[in-house]
Amino acid sequence: MCEVIVLFDGYSTKLPDGTMKANCSCTLIKASKNIIVDTMTAWDREKIIQALIQHNITPEEIDYVVCSHSHPDHIGNNNLFMNAEHIIGICVNRGDMFFTTDLACGEYKLCPEVKVVTTPGHTSDDVTVWVESIVSGKSTHFAITGDLFEKEEDILDPSIWKDLGTEELQKTQSNMRASVINLADFIIPGHGPMFRVTDSMRKIVKDQIIE
Ligand SMILES: [Zn+2]
Repeated sequence: MCEVIVLFDGYSTKLPDGTMKANCSCTLIKASKNIIVDTMTAWDREKIIQALIQHNITPEEIDYVVCSHSHPDHIGNNNLFMNAEHIIGICVNRGDMFFTTDLACGEYKLCPEVKVVTTPGHTSDDVTVWVESIVSGKSTHFAITGDLFEKEEDILDPSIWKDLGTEELQKTQSNMRASVINLADFIIPGHGPMFRVTDSMRKIVKDQIIE
């Protein structure tokens, strides 16, 4: 049995003076391996430890840390997880050892239920974590996308992801968003709560592809 547990919902708001107040979604996957996706800012260490305790797990028991990309709100507590292999964007390391993995070809399987897939767009190195689980007897696909999807609202208002992403990569991001939403039943975006994908969302995102 495989569980996807959002430890913290991400958020982002622009303050009146233009400062951005934001933190990322932080997700625990309990499968045949224990995996944490995105580790928030360096100021959130104690919060993460306490949240893991609530789910009967210690940092030492985490096998993989995946950071959807290397921005500071997604990597802040990687050094809590010293028994884990670290996957930061497409870079995979443990201590001073840097590994060549299948991620270089686009996909790296962590265990039978979980794989990491390259989904450039927000940055050139983004990855999405895919989890296949059984929900109410049905095979269900969760996509933990980092900032490829900022939040559910960016589907109706694409200026949200466009303003926060890399301008040269907008075309790539629009295509990646369409391919991810097509296969996902649930999306955990970088800075908003998990949402269930509908066919109308898939159509809207497809229509936003920049040719
Ligand atoms: Zn972010």
